[in-house]
Amino acid sequence: MEYESVIGLEVHAQLNTATKIFCSCSTEFGAPPNTHICPICTGQPGVLPVLNRKVVEYAIKMGLATHCTIARVSQFARKNYFYPDLPKGYQISQYELPLAEHGYVEILVNGEKKRIGLTRIHMEEDAGKLVHPGSITDTPYSLVDYNRSGVPLIEIVSDPDMRSPKEAGAYLRTLRTILRYLEISDGNMEEGSFRCDANVSIRHRGETKLGTRTELKNMNSFRNVERALEYEIERQTAALENGETVVQETRLWDAAAGVTRIMRGKEEADDYRYFPDPDLLPLVVEASWVEEVRKSLPELPSEKRDRLVTQYGIPLYDAEVITAEKAVADYFEECVRVCNSPKLASNWVMVEVLRELKEQAIEISKFPVTATHLGEMILMIEKGTISGKIAKTVFAEMVSTGDSPEKIVRDKNLVQVTDQGVIEAVIDEVLTENPEQVERYRGGKTKLLGFFVGQVMKKTRGKANPQMVNTILKEKLDR
Ligand code: ADP
Ligand code: MG
Ligand code: ZN
Repeated sequence: MEYESVIGLEVHAQLNTATKIFCSCSTEFGAPPNTHICPICTGQPGVLPVLNRKVVEYAIKMGLATHCTIARVSQFARKNYFYPDLPKGYQISQYELPLAEHGYVEILVNGEKKRIGLTRIHMEEDAGKLVHPGSITDTPYSLVDYNRSGVPLIEIVSDPDMRSPKEAGAYLRTLRTILRYLEISDGNMEEGSFRCDANVSIRHRGETKLGTRTELKNMNSFRNVERALEYEIERQTAALENGETVVQETRLWDAAAGVTRIMRGKEEADDYRYFPDPDLLPLVVEASWVEEVRKSLPELPSEKRDRLVTQYGIPLYDAEVITAEKAVADYFEECVRVCNSPKLASNWVMVEVLRELKEQAIEISKFPVTATHLGEMILMIEKGTISGKIAKTVFAEMVSTGDSPEKIVRDKNLVQVTDQGVIEAVIDEVLTENPEQVERYRGGKTKLLGFFVGQVMKKTRGKANPQMVNTILKEKLDR
């Protein structure tokens, strides 16, 4: 029997406003514990929350960027539960009337575009953070830091539209890219400013009803979300094949062991007793404000990607990789303005530049090779001043010194040798020095051509024009 997996994701993204959602405390990350707190975000009796307008603006931005309908009236509710990191005993969150609904994002998987529906996007406050430093005289204890209490979040809930862990990964990366283009969140999963709960079920292929799902928590990287889903799909499939049923429950991902473990069952599921927060009026968003925000939207990742494809004729895949970060896309465009060779530029950016950024763990703004310098180097390849091979050396030198390609090529004397006479002289030398190989080549072992090319390149320190070397060598050997 063939099974199909069905995945729906709940994402929490921290918004990067300067202050918290219901008070004016700073949201700065990494400050000493409990230095950014006040009576409101520590839940003292008698205080009143005041909604931060910027939070609403950012949430509207995300709603519009993902094609949602923005509700004219939405509402904050109290989600009641007890935990030491939640001093009020409830979290303020939108529930029945969220700010944004019925949107979608477009993902690219195996070269195909696919739309993933968004059920809703709503605003809520973050909780504080528990720290578990260990034990004092054998008694374990915990500390609580309320700096994060009241930091604004948006929760983005997808429809159950994904069919594989790979699609889930692509969806998460796409959401993160959109948030970063909008400059409303840094989308950093490792640091916890972008968190994901994954819901997954399986069903027979062709079945239209949803199967029983489990909810997975505790994944702190895109890769771990994919791994947790892969594990869970296998576990559920095995259960069904053994004639068992899947039980609706919440499971925790254990990255070290590579398994999910039950955290709580359906019976233990919380009843949050939601009700509208009487301290906060219904939120009314006028159409004129929505239009104003719409006008402020930048070119979005999928728009930029499609534009790069039509404007420069580069493959969709290249454009997707390059537009994953706006600064990388800007770098690419600047580079093309200089060299006017989009495909070469996209290769260099996609392969060499992105590899260096990853290896050095830096942002492109800190990259020593400017877009102009890379463009100039590509221009030198195009003009035949340097070969593609030498370009790798020049690029490495640009990375370590930040110098212009002209200076490097001049100082290191790397200009390509295209003088027919010079190349012929070197080839003659090589042929004279290796009579035995010449004999074998002429006897039919034509694979030796590579050996001769290598020798010529060695003598010219890689500077001979490879096409010319090939042609002249063949002429002389096949004579
Ligand atoms: P809750 O808030 O209790 O977690 P929701 O109805 O809000 O429940 O659903 C949460 C997420 O689970 C959504 O992203 C939704 O798409 C997904 N989901 C719901 N049912 C299923 C299912 N049977 N299989 C996979 N995902 C599901
Ligand atoms: Mg849930
Ligand atoms: Zn505060």
